[in-house]
Amino acid sequence: MAATEDDDGAGLGEPDFGVGPPCGCPACGAPLHWSQTEEGGNGCWLAICTCGRPAARFPRRPDYEPDDPIAAAFGSPRAPARPPWVRVFQMTSGYPWWLPWRHVLRRCPGCGQSVTFAVWTTMPGRRTAYSELCLSCGRATSEHLWPRGGMREAPVTGNEWTPPCVAVARLRRAVFAPPPD
Ligand SMILES: [Zn+2]
Ligand SMILES: [Zn+2]
Repeated sequence: MAATEDDDGAGLGEPDFGVGPPCGCPACGAPLHWSQTEEGGNGCWLAICTCGRPAARFPRRPDYEPDDPIAAAFGSPRAPARPPWVRVFQMTSGYPWWLPWRHVLRRCPGCGQSVTFAVWTTMPGRRTAYSELCLSCGRATSEHLWPRGGMREAPVTGNEWTPPCVAVARLRRAVFAPPPD
């Protein structure tokens, strides 16, 4: 009759979220594309809704909704241990930039994780910039497009942040460009 070590399964084990927690965007209810982060510990799931609202869930605490989902997934933006690309992502996701980063479904060719996010921004000269950033390894891709004639440059990719390589420098310029009026 004694309880065994294996007896604690029901209700206490980690729920299996499969491809992500079974909940939609807290702001608009849209379905979310979840990705699991390793940096946050405890296998935190992170999603950015197409409306721009981030969401995070922990497997061990399925009902807990963190106040700051990005900090929950990657730690505080002020923590010095945060990699620079995570700080750039965290800063531009909030005031005054509010960039609508979207999750890219394909895995990063550099590290194999699926925590890549992408955003379109407007640059001086009416250029449009496409920026892609892997939050796991810092792999950055930057591409510029001009409105007239549809001219586009070949995208540049790199993951050197100190000092920044061409791709990282261009991504930083693009995501910190002043928002268009
Ligand atoms: Zn939403
Ligand atoms: Zn990567």
